[in-house]
Amino acid sequence: MKLCRFEADGRARDGVVEDRQVIARDGQDDRYDLAEVRLLAPARPRKYLAIGLNYADHVAESGLQAPEVPFFFNKQVTCVVGPGADVHMPRVSKLLDYEGELAIVIARRCRHVSVEQAPEVIAGYTIANDVSVRDWQLRTPTMTIGKSFDTHGPLGPWIVTADELGDPHDLGIRTFVNGEQRQDGNTREMVFNSFEQVSHLSEAFTLEPGDVIATGTPSGVGDSRQPPRYLREGDVVEVWVEGVGTLRNPVTLER
Ligand code: MG
Repeated sequence: MKLCRFEADGRARDGVVEDRQVIARDGQDDRYDLAEVRLLAPARPRKYLAIGLNYADHVAESGLQAPEVPFFFNKQVTCVVGPGADVHMPRVSKLLDYEGELAIVIARRCRHVSVEQAPEVIAGYTIANDVSVRDWQLRTPTMTIGKSFDTHGPLGPWIVTADELGDPHDLGIRTFVNGEQRQDGNTREMVFNSFEQVSHLSEAFTLEPGDVIATGTPSGVGDSRQPPRYLREGDVVEVWVEGVGTLRNPVTLER
């Protein structure tokens, strides 16, 4: 199943996407043409964690060592936007970058989840663009601020349930800017896989329904190119994950 949130009749509703239609799942069986509704971020996380340096080729392009333990940071949940929403070029920086990622959405409240049990607490998977303001990210140790500017957490276009997606660790993942391919990886290349990430985080704190974990980005981010190629006003970023779909967001100037 593809679970979505969408706007219709001036309010946010939960739906299922089937055959290019959105079917409301709030008691009324209203149907809409997918092309005619505005999709919203499919999850409303209370926590949004993201792992860094989780693909060997991205570790290499960053000029860093692969971490021995999973290296997580927070994205503040106020950064979350949906598919099609503007990503803002901030007033304070031009070093705006993309990171295409598979994202986990948690199904239920859980703690101390083993790697083997992790699939049971995952509702499904969506796509994240872990948008980053590189100078703000790298000038302080926690990275939180540079990863959390408003609009820098696009999620979507929907959640593909775990049963429909199958193995989350054999999925192509690509990022395009204005149609030009910039990233091309496969989720099998993760250093710490999705289940290990859920297990690790749950050793420390309670995960709750709707919480999001961005599982890392492959190589090809703009910051690591020679010369660097940051996003610019007017760019359109698309992240494609096999079996999930495409998350597309334009870049506009923050007003
Ligand atoms: Mg990332």
